[in-house]
Amino acid sequence: MTGSLVVVGTGPGKADLMTPATRAALNRATDLVGYGPYLDRVPAIRADQCRHASDNRVELDRARHALELAAAGRQVVVVSGGDPGVFAMAAAVFEAVEAGDPAWRTLDIKVEPGVTAMLAAAAEVGAPLGGDFCAISLSDNLKGWTTIERRLAAAAEGDFVIALYNPASKARPHQLGQAFDLLRKLKDAATPVLFVRAAGTAEAKVVATTLGAADASVADMRTLVIIGASTTRQVGRWIYTPRSERRT
Ligand code: SAH
Repeated sequence: MTGSLVVVGTGPGKADLMTPATRAALNRATDLVGYGPYLDRVPAIRADQCRHASDNRVELDRARHALELAAAGRQVVVVSGGDPGVFAMAAAVFEAVEAGDPAWRTLDIKVEPGVTAMLAAAAEVGAPLGGDFCAISLSDNLKGWTTIERRLAAAAEGDFVIALYNPASKARPHQLGQAFDLLRKLKDAATPVLFVRAAGTAEAKVVATTLGAADASVADMRTLVIIGASTTRQVGRWIYTPRSERRT
């Protein structure tokens, strides 16, 4: 039997934000591999499916395990939250392929796109990503803090809307505050800042404030932070960034 590996994302949370293509891949799987809480979001499909739940910090081990299963002929689906290519498992799988058994390079590997947190968060508040934007992970587990500071400053210089993933965790409580301090030196204090928690779920919660007033302790691991560009503004109860840079 020929094995396969599909990397999917379950979307931000709500079942109807999982794509039909992702659902079809899950239906075909003999083995599901992923971080426990993400696997829990996948409803039981068939009794004969094996679930391999693991800890969040062992992404490369998990990727290697998935590749070994696929090489042994299993139909494997690796499950991430959101989109699998955004700060998630798809890149870990290719990293494992690069460093691993040369035979893995000929495996049938596919990536299914999913709704990433940034898009779900933007939709909760209007259209803050309507102009040019960028996404930065504040986690310094895999890169240095000086790299993050350099990218924040460049994003401010380029007047991008900035979506911050991984803004805070118990192990990293101070970095969002440091990021705000850096951005306050480069951007207007009135710039809109949005904290969107559990976007695209029934528990979604939005805190809208300004860069001058933003309190980093509002964010946790389930929060996506959006910092506006100079044109980002409020209309009625929505926040949006116009597509045109001309001020009307
Ligand atoms: N692959 C995921 C991102 C993984 S990084 C995706 O595409 O969405 C994990 C970070 O994503 C969290 O710390 C948080 O910043 C963000 N995140 C994930 N789901 C979220 C949600 N429903 N609402 C707000 N932020 C979310």
